[in-house]
Amino acid sequence: MPRDRSRLCTGDATPIRVPKSEVPKCCLWYCGSESGRAIAIRLDLDRARVVFWHDDRKHDQVVRLVYSRTNFGGRRAWFACPICRRRIGVLWFYIWGGWDWRCRHCLNLTYYSQRLSPEWRVRYRVEKIRRRLGATGDVWSGEIAKPKWMRWSTFERLLQRHDMHFERMLELENVAFRRIARLVGS
Ligand SMILES: [Zn+2]
Repeated sequence: MPRDRSRLCTGDATPIRVPKSEVPKCCLWYCGSESGRAIAIRLDLDRARVVFWHDDRKHDQVVRLVYSRTNFGGRRAWFACPICRRRIGVLWFYIWGGWDWRCRHCLNLTYYSQRLSPEWRVRYRVEKIRRRLGATGDVWSGEIAKPKWMRWSTFERLLQRHDMHFERMLELENVAFRRIARLVGS
């Protein structure tokens, strides 16, 4: 696949992920993909306040949260993209894209696995396998079932690969969280 250099790639930008289940009422610190830029997210029931530092400049933005029901009777939080209102799991920031967090569609980002940081590269693999298995690309939603037309041997092979990448993804994400926790001394 030829690279389209006129578009940004997700590896060039900084992602923040919506919390996995219930929204905690505390500050969550997260690390940018490559540069270790500091981001503070303060979560309330219906909004997330994202404070971001870049080159000694502070940027402060409120992003609305929306909820969906999960299979297990719980609910899941999503960001509502401030521009297009699309329900999204990841918000992106790119320094040349304006001082706003938005979805990757609005930022015109492409997914090129080779330009992603390690944690995003492995996540991209998980998403790809999930889609091949007819599941949603959302790595946190549990259900993966064998598509009717797929042979069991193929399904099991893909599932095994999925689990392997998923484990690796968790490992890398934990490393990123520890890095930022050290940075803020908590
Ligand atoms: Zn958008």
